[in-house]
Amino acid sequence: MPIELQIQVMPEVAAKPQLLTEHVARLIKTKPEEIRHVAIIKRSIDARQKSVKVNLKVAVYHNEEYQENKFRLPDYKDVSNNKEVIVIGAGPAGLFAALQLIELGLKPIVLERGKDVQERRRDLKAINRDHIVNEDSNYCYGEGGAGTYSDGKLYTRSKKRGDVDRILELFVAFGAAEDILVEAHPHIGTNKLPKIIKAMREKIIEFGGQVLFDTRVTDILVKNNEVQGVVT
Ligand SMILES: Cc1cc2nc3c(=O)[nH]c(=O)nc-3n(C[C@H](O)[C@H](O)[C@H](O)COP(=O)(O)OP(=O)(O)OC[C@H]3O[C@@H](n4cnc5c(N)ncnc54)[C@H](O)[C@@H]3O)c2cc1C
Repeated sequence: MPIELQIQVMPEVAAKPQLLTEHVARLIKTKPEEIRHVAIIKRSIDARQKSVKVNLKVAVYHNEEYQENKFRLPDYKDVSNNKEVIVIGAGPAGLFAALQLIELGLKPIVLERGKDVQERRRDLKAINRDHIVNEDSNYCYGEGGAGTYSDGKLYTRSKKRGDVDRILELFVAFGAAEDILVEAHPHIGTNKLPKIIKAMREKIIEFGGQVLFDTRVTDILVKNNEVQGVVT
């Protein structure tokens, strides 16, 4: 088992693997060359004092082999001929639900009232420049959902409810920086989010799901207490 340590270091030590290894070696009273790897598990910055420090939770691989963890997508299988499930909305909930459905061998059909994430940009421009709001494609509606064109900090209260690591790993597999796995306040960045969302949609389609834009659900059809379908 690697040794887990909670440490506070100067920013340059946190940034340079060699300095970090030397620092950790001193702490566990060994030689740096005897440490195989220092993996950062969590990182946060303490800027309350004049001298900024970095808090790190690290796993020190001293006597054991370190295997690099490459975040890959699940082994999705083609679901194009499988049972269909309608997903309303291509926000984060809808996109992750669609991917989960594919993992479970079901075919997601995502119905999104707005436009795809790139087309949406034009409607945002129209809001800012001409003060014209498209009621189906704006800052809240459209592929990627409400936060897509904000600054992409990942806020969640789910820590109390369950493990969010899997979601972060999927974001990395779809193109987010690996830093989000260790930062105390993970931040994807507005510039990267649209590409990640596009990659998610392409994966859904590649494995047999469907994503339909400009498709607003106006009613849910219920018969004998069972959902039969939706009206668009
Ligand atoms: C301005 C703003 C900035 C934000 N910034 C951040 C941030 O930086 N970090 C962060 O973590 N969170 C942020 N949030 C919160 C975050 O966006 C939401 O928590 C998240 O989007 C919720 O995801 P969701 O999939 O549940 O819903 P939504 O994102 O609202 O997605 C719902 C989707 O359904 C579609 N839809 C709605 N009605 C219909 C219909 N009748 N038929 C078909 N499709 C429909 C919508 O177009 C939308 O794409 C921000 C929210 C706003 C409004």
